Amino acid sequence: MRVGERNGCGKGMNLFSALTGRENTRYMVSDQALDNIAQALALSRQQIEAISYRPVGKDVTSQCRFFGHTISVNHLRSHQPAVCPDCLAQQQAISGLWDLRAVCACPHHGKWLIDQCPACDEPLKWNRTSVANCKCGFDLRTVQTKPAPSNVLALIALVHEMVLNDLPTLAEQSLGYPEEVRQVPLNDLLGLFRYVADVLVPAHPITQEERVDGSEAFSKQSQAAVLMARLLKAWPDELSLALADLSSSDGEDAPTVLSAKKFNACYRRVMETALEPRSLCLNVPSFFKQAMQQFRDDHCISVTGEGRYLNPSLVWRAADGQRAMKWGVCLEALGFLPGEEDNLDEVTPFQIYLQKKEERLVRVLTPRQAMLWLDCCSAHLKSLTDLRLLMPLVGGDFLKSEVADVVRSFDHVAVDRKQAGPRLGALLRLTSFKRTKSDQFGRLVRAIAKKEVGLYKQGRAPARSLSDLYVAIPELRKTGHWIWPEYFTTEPR
Ligand SMILES: [Zn+2]
Ligand SMILES: [Zn+2]
Repeated sequence: MRVGERNGCGKGMNLFSALTGRENTRYMVSDQALDNIAQALALSRQQIEAISYRPVGKDVTSQCRFFGHTISVNHLRSHQPAVCPDCLAQQQAISGLWDLRAVCACPHHGKWLIDQCPACDEPLKWNRTSVANCKCGFDLRTVQTKPAPSNVLALIALVHEMVLNDLPTLAEQSLGYPEEVRQVPLNDLLGLFRYVADVLVPAHPITQEERVDGSEAFSKQSQAAVLMARLLKAWPDELSLALADLSSSDGEDAPTVLSAKKFNACYRRVMETALEPRSLCLNVPSFFKQAMQQFRDDHCISVTGEGRYLNPSLVWRAADGQRAMKWGVCLEALGFLPGEEDNLDEVTPFQIYLQKKEERLVRVLTPRQAMLWLDCCSAHLKSLTDLRLLMPLVGGDFLKSEVADVVRSFDHVAVDRKQAGPRLGALLRLTSFKRTKSDQFGRLVRAIAKKEVGLYKQGRAPARSLSDLYVAIPELRKTGHWIWPEYFTTEPR
């Protein structure tokens, strides 16, 4: 722009527009024109390419080259520019970096940018007559802008450095940033900014003091900068806490455990948009995707059960900065009964919950594993739980010890066939029920418990599953439990 002005290109922004493909030059600048400009400015072709936006290929309009990086054009400010008044005052120059939506503050001056003229309240224009003046004539260099928080400045300094391939001036890790932050493509980092602005900001309205003057779009971008700076600064705990907010129900008592349906209602959009972005401009870095998956895994209580989740809103930040929850919530979520010595209100680190969840995995069986242990079908399992001989934990899993007890207690009441004497042909496996006959199975088990029907086993060895235990057909007929006419047309021999 300055070059344009000094060289008498009339309207100062025209050369700038030509270089960036703005406004009047819809198809960006031709190679020939670029060479001419490069020559006029005594810059190499490489240097001029580095400061101009170039289309990626002939037919690609959704991406462009930006300082040597390939990015989605949606990461650029398309409607109105933003500027730092202090930079304008100092060097009469505009920075190409301000064209990124993610850059909404100036790390050199520590202040927010502006995208509106404070005198006429009009949006700044690309084709204003001079670099430092609004169309109304107001001198933008005199504007006093609001200081930006140091977190935001650190984040924007990072974007600057990544764009320019500069060495770090701030060690991101000492700020708590994820280690991989500098390894991601610029487009992914900008994608994360876009994701935060479009998906997370609407769910996290910021306070009035944090609000920044400017257009609606600029205000959203500045909120996204505040939130993204916060998320990256205490990675990944801060993300988990921000996500936890999404499941809090106002005022009402929050349930400890959420069904898969409820969890998905709160999280499907944030998860799916991050994990399966439908547009290039929403592509987020892989460290972010991993953290999202980790969040879901951390809160999913049952691995293969019915899909229950710990309510994330019951986790908060404790005084030591770590995530925490109440001990009672921890026990309830995992389906363990509290003992007398348990202090349910005790603040417990989230890590302990994760550890208990691990331990629980060793102690429990999924419904499928329980069926394998019992050698029975799902209808039998349902009957056993209906009869309360087996109590599923939260999430539908079973304690291993309880499953083993069921077989052991049956084995205990059963008598040896050799002692009792019914013919082998007159015995029927306890689990010879059709899947649809779970009620009858339940009634039979109850009758066995009341000793109305005898229970037998094949040998002297202990029964290892329900399939080792038998009932006698004549007894079943006598007591009215014979319900299998379809099994045998005549009495088996
Ligand atoms: Zn500045
Ligand atoms: Zn103005």
